[in-house]
Parts: sequence; structure tokens; C-alpha cells
Amino acid sequence: MTQGKIGVSTGDLFPIIKKFLYSDHEIFLREIISNAVDATRKLRVLANSGDFKEEIGNPRVTVKADKKAGTLTVSDNGIGMTRDEVERYINQIAFSGAEEFLQKYKDNAAAIIGHFGLGFYSAFMVSDRVEILTRSYRPDAAPVHWTCDGTPEYTLDDAEKETRGTDIIMHIADDEQDFLEDNKINELLEKYCKFLPVEITFGKKKEWKDGGYRDTTEDNIINDTNPAWTRKPADLKEADYTDFYHRLYPSARDPLFHIHLNVDYPFNLTGILYFPKIDNRLEIQKNKIQLYCNQVYVTDTVEGIVPDYLTLLHGVIDSPDIPLNVSRSYLQSDRNVKKISSHITKKVTDSLTDIFNASRVDYEAKWDDLKVFFQYGILSDEKFNERAKAIFLYKNTDGKYFTGDEYENLVKPNQTDKEGKIVHLYATDPLEQYTYIQKAKDKGYDVLLLGGQLDPHFINHVEHENPSRRFLRVDADVIDKLVPKNDAPSTTWSVIDRHDATSILTPLLRADGASYNVNFESLGDAQEPLTVTRSEFARRMKEMSAMNPTMSFYGAMDDHYTLVVNTDHRLANTLLADAQSALADALAPVRAAIDAANARKADIDALNKDKKEEEIPQVDKDRSLEIDKELDDLNHQEDDILATYGKESKLAGQLVDLALLANGLLKGESLARFVKRSFDLI
Ligand code: ADP
Repeated sequence: MTQGKIGVSTGDLFPIIKKFLYSDHEIFLREIISNAVDATRKLRVLANSGDFKEEIGNPRVTVKADKKAGTLTVSDNGIGMTRDEVERYINQIAFSGAEEFLQKYKDNAAAIIGHFGLGFYSAFMVSDRVEILTRSYRPDAAPVHWTCDGTPEYTLDDAEKETRGTDIIMHIADDEQDFLEDNKINELLEKYCKFLPVEITFGKKKEWKDGGYRDTTEDNIINDTNPAWTRKPADLKEADYTDFYHRLYPSARDPLFHIHLNVDYPFNLTGILYFPKIDNRLEIQKNKIQLYCNQVYVTDTVEGIVPDYLTLLHGVIDSPDIPLNVSRSYLQSDRNVKKISSHITKKVTDSLTDIFNASRVDYEAKWDDLKVFFQYGILSDEKFNERAKAIFLYKNTDGKYFTGDEYENLVKPNQTDKEGKIVHLYATDPLEQYTYIQKAKDKGYDVLLLGGQLDPHFINHVEHENPSRRFLRVDADVIDKLVPKNDAPSTTWSVIDRHDATSILTPLLRADGASYNVNFESLGDAQEPLTVTRSEFARRMKEMSAMNPTMSFYGAMDDHYTLVVNTDHRLANTLLADAQSALADALAPVRAAIDAANARKADIDALNKDKKEEEIPQVDKDRSLEIDKELDDLNHQEDDILATYGKESKLAGQLVDLALLANGLLKGESLARFVKRSFDLI
């Protein structure tokens, strides 16, 4: 028997393992099973090279839990170890700078394990004692038994073992007894081992018999040794891909399509990415891409390894070249990882372009689910943008799809404004903006549908890239001004007319969180008397701010609308004429007083015209101020008279409400009042 001390330069390794690796302790099973799998694969390599001439048999790893003995055993029939090899591979954990490294990565178990090759020692996270019983494939090698109870002291003995391979026997610690439960073991096997390349068995297959599940004599194999991503695309049918998808995400809906990745230069990478049905919403995806290293599950946190927008996809990526056991910040700056990122982007855009070219019908059928993904990619990744923008589709309110160039050509003849900008009209809610859409169509304009979560950002991006394109929501202005062709005369109403109408209408436009101003346009008698429009810029900024905290300034602003009075319309003119004749008597004295006050003020001003401020007599200054106050009062009186008229006028109320209604702005109490007034009027 040999006794010795494990070669750890930093003193006692085990407390460190237990303490620092505690949070991730379940990975011990992955580490031990991966070693066993490696051992069987090494044997195959030896057989292939002719160094091992016996029958390999069926390579297999067996997991066994013995609750009575308190042991969990992982056995393999791989290459095994000689006494020398145990000395070299297990006893010498030689490393330098360990202390420093441990300090730095004390919260990152994976980094520590990877750095030191502590795979095997992770067994001590859950065990009081670990035994190795192993027999090398070499014909002359004697079996050996190694045991260690969590102190650096180990023993190494000769042992009895009939068959080639290794048993790792873990005496599970009292506070880790969970790891002896079938359910727990099954859960870990399913998480970490389900696609390992060598059969892993745990217990027997069960069958329903005599009112309960009973063990059969058949071994229960927990893994699929040839998962779809490791096979050749030519050998796989569509159904195989779908089945595999459901093996990964049992409760997900069928995916839209998949991309099979297969790279061997300048790095190794295989995998299958699936485009899920995401209903055009940018919600947090709960089905994440899973990352494997030689079929061993590593993580489903792939941020930094694949570009952000790809995290909307599902599937697996397997690469032995991604440095998995290091910190995330290191990963993000790793050149290999960067190459992998841009390669995946290229593959994904190539595949999308293939589908686009192969069948436009197919592509369009999938588009609504692809749109958010595209927009996320275009907005966040310059490379993706370059490759994908040509196959981005716009959908119009008739359900037709166009690429950016196709659409530009379609609307260019009719929708180019006087500055040469091609105006892209759009709606965000076809029901709410129905009236406006209809008007635009009547005018021969086309209207896009851009009501998605990322559309405001996306539109900004497209305008920035294509200065000749301008996006305007259909209610951003009155129809004649959406695509302004020339400077039409704005209105025939006088200053007084406009003043009166503004005072009559403004009090009818009060609404929480919204502010209005009143404008006058000569729009022809075919257009509505009153229309509500909403400034494109303010609205878009507000919508963008909802997703971007640095823009909260815009988010806090009122919604800003404009009420446009069509001064060509009969009803607008009736409203004004009625008001002016009904109020003539009431307004006359106020206006006479205003005129008189203004005249007095003008006299004083004339008197002091050429004087400097300090030369004007104090009495004149005082009188000027008095007159200003008087004018203020008079203006208020005038406004009150007009406002009171407006509030009582059924015509004014009805016209304003109809304009609000057409923009979906008439709600609650105002809507109820409108309905009641309408009945009264019938
Ligand atoms: P790593 O696997 O990263 O090299 P480990 O601590 O997990 O580090 O294992 C150290 C070495 O011990 C392995 O490289 C291998 O040579 C040997 N070893 C571990 N488990 C087995 C096994 N089941 N069969 C044969 N050799 C093994």
C-alpha cells in the first residue's frame, strides 16, 4: 500500500473545493460522467490506431445509487488507469498561482474547475470519501484502489477487479443525501447528460405491471448518443428536426424553421438553431439556446457568445473551441468567440436569404414571426444589418409584402413630397386609424402597417440610413399635407375669425395627459370640417422612450395633438357665422372697450415715441400698466363669452367630438356625452 499527499501547492485543497464550489455542486455528476465517457472514447481511439487489439464491446457508463451504503457509483468500461497513471493524473494536481486565481474566481466554480482540471475533485463537493477502483486496458496492468477522505492524504492499494475500466465510488455526505434519490439523479442526468455520445444507464427500464411501475430486465439508457446536430443534414428529415426540437423544449410550439450549423474551420462548431414562433412580440424567451461542449451540456446562458438578437432563437450550439470554463467578460473579448459570433450571423443571414430566394410565398408566410427578430438584429448588429436589410419586408394595410426597394418604387411616383422625400405612410392600429387610412387610400396613397414594439426605433434607423425616406403615421397631418407637393394657400379666414374659432373650440378639447392647439387650413369642401392630427416627432419620441430609460424626458411629455379646422367646409363656416351673429351684441361693448383701451395706449406710446426709457414720465408708465391690466381683463371677458358659447353649442360639441372619435380619442364620459347629444339631435 502507498500512502501519500496529493500535490497541491496551496495546502489544503478540499475546503476550497467545498467552500467555493458549493453553489454549483450538482455539476460533480457531469464532471465524473464526462471523465467516464472520455475514457471509453480514448479506448476507441486506441482501437482505431491498432494499439488496442481486444474486443471493445459496447462502450457504456453506468450510474448506480446505493442508498443503504450511501454511495453513488459511476462505472465505465474505458481505458482505466495504471498505478502510475493514478499517481500522475489524480495525485498531482500541480498548478502555479493557485491562490491568486482562486481569490479572483472564487464565485465562479466553472472557471476554477476548468482552470485546474479539477473535474474529478468536484466529487468532493458532495462526498465525504471517494474511491477509485480501476483496471487499465494494458494487459499487464494490475488493478488498483485509491481512496481519499477529503484531506490531502490518500491511500493507493492493489485491488481485485475482473474487468477493464473504472468505478468512481462516491460516499455521499450526510447533508447531500439528495444526490442518492432517483428523482434527483434523473433530473441531473436529463440536464447534463442527455446527449452524451456514449450510452449512460441508470437503473432498469420500468413497465406498468400489477398496478404499479416495475423494473424490467432491460437497462435504462438515459441519453441519445447521436443527437440531431451531430448528424449530417442530408440524413435528417424535417420531422427529425421537429422531434429534436421537442426533445429540447417539450412544451413549445413547432418552430418556423431551422438552421443546421456545421463549421470546422477556423474553429469547430456544430448546432441547430430554430426560429420559434414568437408572435411578433419581444418577450423574454424562456426557451434558451443550450451550449454544449462535445455533447456535454454546459450552460443555457449564451450572452456574449452569440450576438444578442440571436438569443431570440432556440436550439443548441456545440463547440469544443469556446473557452467555456472562464469568466463571461473574458469570453466576450475572446477572439475565437467573436469569430463564432460573426460566423453564426453569416450562416443565419445566408439561410434567410436562401429561403427568401427559394420561395417568396413561404418567406412571406413566415414573415410576421420573423419581423421582430430582424428588427432586433438590424438595430443591434451592424453585420446583421448589412446582410439582412435587403430581405426585410414591409407589410401594408392590405396584407401585401414588399422589400424596402420594392416599396420605394411603388410609392415614389405618388408619394414624393416637394423636398424630394419619399413619404412612407403607416398605421400602428388599423382599427383606430381607420378613417385616416381610408382617406390616404382614397388619395391613391399606400399605407404600411408598423405597429410593432420595435417599429418606432426601426423607422428612425431606416430614415437615418436612407435620408430620402420619411415615415409618417397617417394621422400626423391632414391628408393634403401628409405629402406636401406645393405651398397651398393656408386659409381664407381673417385673424378675428381664427381668434373666435380658437376661443370657441379650445375649451372643448380638454383631456388628461393631452394638449391641443388649433390650426386653420383651406382643405376643400370634400374634407371633414375638423380633424385631429398628432405630430409624428413627439409621438415617436414618446413611444421610443417607453423602451429606453435615457429618453424619459419625452415619456413625461403630454401627448400633443392639433385640431385642424377646414375653413373651406360648410359646417365650419356655419359654426363661425352662427357664433359671430349670436354673440355680436355681447361682444360689441367688450370689443369697443378693447379698441378704446388700445387707442389710449397708442396715444401714450406716440407721446413718448422718441424718448429713452428713463425719460418717460412715471405717470405715463403707470397708465400704460393700468391699460395693460384692463386689456387683460377685457380679453378674458371676450374669451369667456366665446368659450361659453362653444360649450353650449351642439354644433361645436358635435364637430369636435366627431373629430376626436375618428382618431379614437373620444372615451369615457366624453363619449357618453357625445352619444346623448347625438340622440338629442336626431
Ligand atoms: P480533466 O478531465 O480535466 O483532465 P480530471 O480531474 O477530471 O481532469 O481528471 C484527471 C485525469 O484523470 C483525466 O485526464 C484522466 O486521465 C484521468 N481520469 C479521470 N477519470 C477517469 C476515468 N473514469 N477513466 C480513466 N481515466 C480517468
